[in-house]
Amino acid sequence: MKTWDSHYIGGRWIKAQAQATFSVHDSSTEEVFATVPTGTAAEAESAVRAARAAFDGWAALPVAERADALDRIAAGLKARTDELAQTIAREVGMPLKLARAVQVGSPIWNFGNFAKLTRAFEWQERVGHSLVLREPVGVVGCITPWNFPLNQIALKVAPALAAGCTVVLKPSEVAPINALILAEVIDEAGLPPGVFNLVNGSGPEVGEVLATHPEVDMVSFTGSTRAGRRVSELASQTIKRVALELGGKSASVVLPDADLEAAIKGSVSACLLNSGQTCSAHTRLLVPEDRLPEVKELLRTAVARLPIGPSLEEGSKLGPLVSAAQRDRVLALVRQGLAEGAELIAGGPDAAVPERGYFVQPTVLRVKPGDTLAREEIFGPVLVVLTYRDEDDAARIANDTPYGLGGGVWSRDEDHAIAFARRMRTGQVDINGAPFNGQAPFGGYKQSGNGRENGRYGLEEFLEYKSLQLRTAGA
Ligand code: NDP
Repeated sequence: MKTWDSHYIGGRWIKAQAQATFSVHDSSTEEVFATVPTGTAAEAESAVRAARAAFDGWAALPVAERADALDRIAAGLKARTDELAQTIAREVGMPLKLARAVQVGSPIWNFGNFAKLTRAFEWQERVGHSLVLREPVGVVGCITPWNFPLNQIALKVAPALAAGCTVVLKPSEVAPINALILAEVIDEAGLPPGVFNLVNGSGPEVGEVLATHPEVDMVSFTGSTRAGRRVSELASQTIKRVALELGGKSASVVLPDADLEAAIKGSVSACLLNSGQTCSAHTRLLVPEDRLPEVKELLRTAVARLPIGPSLEEGSKLGPLVSAAQRDRVLALVRQGLAEGAELIAGGPDAAVPERGYFVQPTVLRVKPGDTLAREEIFGPVLVVLTYRDEDDAARIANDTPYGLGGGVWSRDEDHAIAFARRMRTGQVDINGAPFNGQAPFGGYKQSGNGRENGRYGLEEFLEYKSLQLRTAGA
């Protein structure tokens, strides 16, 4: 077991003040494999001060130097790929091979991508007699979740640093080790002291300092809608910029002219990646009502192809959930749905699971619009099926949640699918299972949030505009 005892503040590892620690569990075995210190409000304050002190110098550096620093971080993460993949597979429960590709590959790619984007970015333009500058927003507090822990960090820290901002990161207490490894990598990359700071701790203690502190200019938050609302309320007192990436209840809509087999297989994968612990997971499947019997058969077949197992075991396609609390929450919601009259199609809360580890069998239920399971984010391996009469009905059901993050549309006719996608109140829609695009904006409508991450859009989140009015005529 590894004991971490310090926070990374002002370019140094500073011994934690409090004795209290968080235990980090291997979600496949339930063993505690590391502990991290529980940070205090005073430590968060000291990190904010360090970030503030470093800001002017970092913001003034030539863009190419900041881009080079990001490239060094990408290279440092790459060199530690095996260790990071093992760590995240244990923290989160994602099968190792997938964790290597998704949980480690994506952050490495993102650091490199933001380096490239920064070099190519137009940092100023002439608008009539004005010169419009893009400048860093300032000190940024980053608060991140556990489900894709390092990537959610990368999508904030990389563009913030690229923009010229300095950062205080508070990662999730449930999966904090990957962030400590990142801090080691950043330390080795030789960034000026205070440009990047890491304080582990709880949301209410450390996170709330970042949300309230007058010297923090922006909070970038990814997590639940509940905590996002709290951060937003607190941040409003100092009028800081707030970017929120929150929960979802995304619909995969199978139009009547879709290839049904491909659509069901693709929708099941889009729901169950990371055992359903994905904010943009397609957790509601909408199918024409007259196709339901075929759909049920296809769903049972698709789910049977995804055996659960420990994350470090070859052959596991789905791992456990992240924690006992998450498993219990998911099972309780499924039981509530069954009590409300949902029909069980596959899996279920009583299906056999390995003795150790926070496992839940992938579960498929038929529900009706308005049911708890049709509206609430479950954040586990649970797909709910809804039927529709016609496409107007499908559009109404697809939009009938407080969320609007992801979604999918399936049709043999791409124009038909695009026309339907335009009716969906959601931030992204995958047509016929098309893959994720790290350059395209990612973020939510409605209560799924108000920011955009990824690519150029993600970089612009961390920039201000400044207009200089000139006497000289524009080009
Ligand atoms: P939480 O909202 O519980 O936690 C997210 C982060 O916020 C954690 O670091 C947490 O700290 C912190 N936090 C909690 N309360 C506060 C507070 N009062 N003030 C400041 N910070 C606080 O979410 P989970 O970690 O459980 O992640 C799952 C949720 O995240 C799901 O709803 C999911 O949909 C969403 N998500 C959204 C994504 C998106 O891009 N839209 C991507 C990934 C996840 P602590 O360590 O104490 O928990």
